[in-house]
Amino acid sequence: MSKRKEDIFNFSAISDECVKCGKCIPVCTIHNVNADEVTSPRGFIDLLGAYQKGKLDLDKTAKDIFESCFLCTACVEVCPKSLPTDMIIEQVRSDIAHKFGIAWYKKAFFLLLRHRWLNDLAFKLGWVFQTCGFKIKADIDSMNSRFSIPMLKADRVLPSLRKKSFLNSHPETIENGGKRKVAIFIGCLGNYNYKDVGDGLLEILEHLEIDAFLAKKQKCCSAPAYFTGDFDTVDNNAKFNIEYFESFSKDVEAIIVPEATCSAMLKIDYEHYFHDQPEWKERAIAIKSKIFMATEWLQNHTHLEQLLASKKKDMKIVTYHDPCHAKKMQGIHAEPRNLISKNYNIVEMSDPNTCCGFGGITMQSEKYHFAQAAGVPKAAMIKKTAADIVSAECSACRMQINNAMGSESKIIFKNPIELIAEALRKK
Ligand code: SF4
Ligand code: SF4
Repeated sequence: MSKRKEDIFNFSAISDECVKCGKCIPVCTIHNVNADEVTSPRGFIDLLGAYQKGKLDLDKTAKDIFESCFLCTACVEVCPKSLPTDMIIEQVRSDIAHKFGIAWYKKAFFLLLRHRWLNDLAFKLGWVFQTCGFKIKADIDSMNSRFSIPMLKADRVLPSLRKKSFLNSHPETIENGGKRKVAIFIGCLGNYNYKDVGDGLLEILEHLEIDAFLAKKQKCCSAPAYFTGDFDTVDNNAKFNIEYFESFSKDVEAIIVPEATCSAMLKIDYEHYFHDQPEWKERAIAIKSKIFMATEWLQNHTHLEQLLASKKKDMKIVTYHDPCHAKKMQGIHAEPRNLISKNYNIVEMSDPNTCCGFGGITMQSEKYHFAQAAGVPKAAMIKKTAADIVSAECSACRMQINNAMGSESKIIFKNPIELIAEALRKK
């Protein structure tokens, strides 16, 4: 049974509810790479209960422990009580941010996320100078750092930057017949790095004769800030986006998002975040009926499946990874597979539902050793399929999987939207 929001942040009540059955332990991403009871779901819950009862100081050790959760929700999926470990960790990270502050480089990044013009400028400068510090691998939209600096090891595979962002490459409205219209929320990695995702989505909408509204004023969904406890940035961006979506929502059938994390943030986490702001909570709930993951909407609301069935079959083998924010949080897993399977051969990896180990900004910087360790089994199961392509509707997974696979891997990552657009180009 799902919990009422007011119960979710009562850490001590949640702690009392945990029956210590341990069902969450084998699936826990952090416990699998750091086998210690304190870094397990029931360990986190226990400590958070003690913290709320005043029996645990939020000291550096506690900070370190609470920052080691990947927020993957694997524990929630298997817990017989559906205890929301991820959400109470997100909540305590705000207390951590207040007490210890936020590292300067994260603050700088979150500042960019609050201002689109600043973001555009920073990424433009980044594009100009990226060749100084990185070897570019244009075929996979990635780059390797040439040297080690704090937080960034040499040879780490990161997403490269494009000269022009997706949102700045197209007009705000693209007419494809005028009978139907959707808005696109592209997300930051799709806008500045993996631009072919948005371009592919526009191609698909053209084939379906559906007009596209690019929603150019959109701000970052603020998921990176939420997972780091920077609730000021979440408040700012969430309110802006909700107001902005309301301004055009009556003119479009849906707001489609080719990104698992952004869509989960907009659709689910905004409501949780606003649990103590009733007016904004209502507005977040009202707008969410318009928000869909791209494959979800295309599968269930268009004739794309039939259109793809009329196109040539590609002999390439695809293996599909389930992003935590798609399958575990939104129940989306059949839709991308159904669409991809029309033109490609799908071979399942041994456990597509295992978290790839992205984990957010802290996990990708200070706790990178955990992200790296969590990526090892995922990369191994992908390689074992001998697929040509690994796919997931999530750019954070893409960044993590590309790095875990290593720069020598021949397996290319593509968002399902890119694969579908490629299939539609064939006669
Ligand atoms: S599965 Fe749920 S009830 Fe069981 S130990 Fe884990 S958090 Fe507690
Ligand atoms: S959200 Fe993931 S990493 Fe965190 S406690 Fe649950 S299973 Fe473990």
